Amino acid sequence: LKVHITPIKDRAGRISGSVIVMRDITELKHLEKLRSEFLANVSHELRTPLTSIKGFVETLLEGAYKDPGLAKRFLSIIDAEAGRLYRLINNLMDLSKIETNQLKLRIEDVSAAELINEVIIIFENRLKEKGLKFSTDIPKDLPKVKADPDWLRQVFINLLDNAIKYTQSGGRVWIEAEPKGDVVEFRVCDTGIGIPEEDLPRVFERFYRVDKARSPEMGGSGLGLAIVKHIVRAFGGDIRVESRVNQGSKFIFTLKRSK
Ligand code: ADP
Repeated sequence: LKVHITPIKDRAGRISGSVIVMRDITELKHLEKLRSEFLANVSHELRTPLTSIKGFVETLLEGAYKDPGLAKRFLSIIDAEAGRLYRLINNLMDLSKIETNQLKLRIEDVSAAELINEVIIIFENRLKEKGLKFSTDIPKDLPKVKADPDWLRQVFINLLDNAIKYTQSGGRVWIEAEPKGDVVEFRVCDTGIGIPEEDLPRVFERFYRVDKARSPEMGGSGLGLAIVKHIVRAFGGDIRVESRVNQGSKFIFTLKRSK
């Protein structure tokens, strides 16, 4: 609470009263705290891959470049880390567009079934490499939904990326779609490591990660689900998650069906 007191004086200069202004700055302080946390997170996330790139470049310059095998290995690490930086910055730009309401949505009638088939192609290799079984359960006559196709693609990409990332080899990943009244419900499911109950309410927060040590692969930044939630909400839908540790997760979201 900020209190400001101004005395009111009469003609003779005697204090005859006072104006007291009290301002509740709890919200302001909270926003300030969020902003500095955000900056700290961004800086950390940007610095980690950069530190690694710099380290490998230095080692190469110090002579490792003379060994072609070693050089190739280091260069592919540098390439992967640069990719991570690139994805992170793309995510940050998306998030900032969304959060400053600069998202220019082209809402149209989208065939989600077709869109899902396009997205699956991107993940075919990773699914095969990791030995994951993939399937879809989508009715043939699934109604179209109200969405911006580019951003809806991003929703499926982020959810599938997570499902694959957090599921051990031999596991299963699948997508279900089902019309329910005036919405269509989509479920991106996996038999992966799951999410502890206490973390469930927070997974859609930006930069929130359950436990960095759980995710063996690099590339995670804790922004994917924040972006997904913003997009689904912008389409007038909603998203939630059901999950059990060591059993799997289901990310369930709804979109309005086209008339
Ligand atoms: P990240 O880049 O870390 O994957 P996300 O915002 O996409 O960030 O997800 C936030 C956190 O939620 C992840 O760090 C992970 O701990 C958890 N999570 C997301 N999807 C899954 C999933 N399918 N299975 C288990 N945990 C998940």
